[in-house]
Parts: sequence; structure tokens; C-alpha cells
Amino acid sequence: MQQHVPPFPAEPAGDLLAGVIRHDWTREQVRALFALPFPDLIFAAQRVHRLHFDPREVQISTLLSIKTGGCPEDCAYCPQSAYYDTGVAAAKLMDLDAVLTAATAAKAAGAGRFCMGAAWRAPKDRDLDQVCAMIGGVRALGLETCVTLGMLTPPQAWRLKRAGLDYYNHNIDTSPEFYGEIITTRTYQDRLDTLAHVRDAGIHVCCGGIVGMGESVEDRAGMIATLASLTVHPESVPINMLMRVEGTPLAGEAALDPLEFVRTIAVARITMPASMVRLSAGRESMSAETQALCLLAGANSIFYGPKLLTTANPEPDRDLALLDRLGMVSMGGSAP
Ligand code: SF4
Repeated sequence: MQQHVPPFPAEPAGDLLAGVIRHDWTREQVRALFALPFPDLIFAAQRVHRLHFDPREVQISTLLSIKTGGCPEDCAYCPQSAYYDTGVAAAKLMDLDAVLTAATAAKAAGAGRFCMGAAWRAPKDRDLDQVCAMIGGVRALGLETCVTLGMLTPPQAWRLKRAGLDYYNHNIDTSPEFYGEIITTRTYQDRLDTLAHVRDAGIHVCCGGIVGMGESVEDRAGMIATLASLTVHPESVPINMLMRVEGTPLAGEAALDPLEFVRTIAVARITMPASMVRLSAGRESMSAETQALCLLAGANSIFYGPKLLTTANPEPDRDLALLDRLGMVSMGGSAP
């Protein structure tokens, strides 16, 4: 006897799945998306994705650590925090020539955006002189620029804007409730304030979080609801899988079911239809099949290159082979 299958979508209401850009997502609605049967969730994410993007295209970014380690913040996942003994040696801010050499190589490898990360709580004004020179130099190579430098004041955000910065990365990491379990040296509101300063200065926002830190589905829903109800959605939404680095408090965290990661990508895609959803840290330990599912769920950006700040990232050749196997291409060009 044939089983009765209710017409899709039974719950949540179809208009939530229509790919319309909205900023009034409630926690309840986002929770309902997480609770959808997997096939319905992926189908909805695909539908939304195709309304706004070419589903074959993937944007490629490269990330360079321009100032490594010795960070005074206590983010429980981070090998660069001075609180934890992880074997990451602290290094000074890189010089301009070395940064431009790395950016030139990234461009030759097919990157469209070059991200530079510094392990600071907040940059000093004199640090910004050097970072502004890097932004100008990387832009002159024809690459989009992104930096992540910690908390910013409004005048600092404007300085970066005048230097030609395209994107600023500053993640909210998790839900407001779970945040205190992960970071105690700055508040959720500090993060939201920096995001507002960046937005006010006219810089595109790159903001996402990390899953697999021991948070609940409710926390994942809280993180996505926070991002999706910002007045303007972040243009880039990096979703990271925790890298369990020895020496950090989260080193012994149980591995998250990869399908929960895929779900988070899909919910980000549905709630922020026109944003680039980036498959970020954690790819190294993911199977090609999980990565393919993430791309099917609406991820359309990856970090490319052998190093993701201080942890491993898949070798470029493996990335190329995966995109090739999937018949996908880099955004704005052919396969890199
Ligand atoms: S995530 Fe950033 S702010 Fe936090 S400890 Fe690491 S480098 Fe510092």
C-alpha cells in the first residue's frame, strides 16, 4: 500500500522558502527550517540558491595570516590565543613585500579575493598604516580585499574604507546565549558594534560563525537568526566547522555529525538568499562527499590554499579536482 506523503512544504510556510530577502527572521522560523526533513531542506536551499546565483559557480578566496599568534583574547577554539599552549609561534606583522608576493601567487592560482588576518584584540592606529598599505597593494593587483583585525572604532573603519577595503571579517561565532561559553574577553555586543561601524563606513561585511563547539541546534538557530535579522545581511557568511586544535579548550569536543553542518549551510542559504555562503575552516577533515553536499546546500564560496591562518586547508589540487568532478567553475572565470 502506498504511504501518504504530505505536499511540500508542509511546514514552515512556503513564503519563508521563497528566496525573498527579509530581515525579520524570528528564532522560531529559523528553528523550523532546521527541523525540516533533510530532502525538503536541501531542495528549498537549492531553489533559493538558483534564484540568486548560478549554481555551478564558486567564489574562491585566499586567506593569509599577516600577524600570527599571541592574541590577548581567549576564544576557546583558537590556536592563536595567548591563553593556550598550542605550539603556534607568535610572529610580528608581515612586511608589505611578503604580503604582495603571497597575493600575487593567490591571484595566479585563481583567487578573486585576498583576505588578510591579524591576531589582534583591536588594531593600534600605527598598525593600520601598514595594513592600509597592504590593502592598496593587493587592490592594485586586481584582487578584492578583505581584512580581519579584531574590534574597530568608527574612525578606524573609515580609514580602512579610504584605503580601498572591500570586506571586513568579524564573526559573531555562535548564539548570544552560548557565546559566553566560548569567549569571555569581549562581549557579543562588542562584536555587533564593530559590525555596525564597518557597515556605517560603507565596507562590505563578512560575518558568520563556527559549528561543532558543543552548541545545541537551538544555538545554531540563534546564530543564523542573529545574522539574518541584521538590517543588511552580511555579504559573505562564512560557516566554519570547529578545527579541534590540541591545546585549546575545545580540543576534546566530540565531532559534529557532518549532516548537521550541511543543515547549517542550507539554513544560512535560505535565510540570506543573496549572500555568499562560505565553506570555511574544517574542510581539511571533510570528505569530498560532505563538501559536495555543502555546495548543493547553497555554499558558493570556499577558501583555497594550503593554509587557513594557522591550521591546514586542503591542498589546491584537491580543490581543483573536486570542482572538476562536480562540473563547477570559479566565479567570474573558468576553473582556476
Ligand atoms: S579568534 Fe581572533 S580574536 Fe579570538 S583569539 Fe583567535 S586571533 Fe584572537
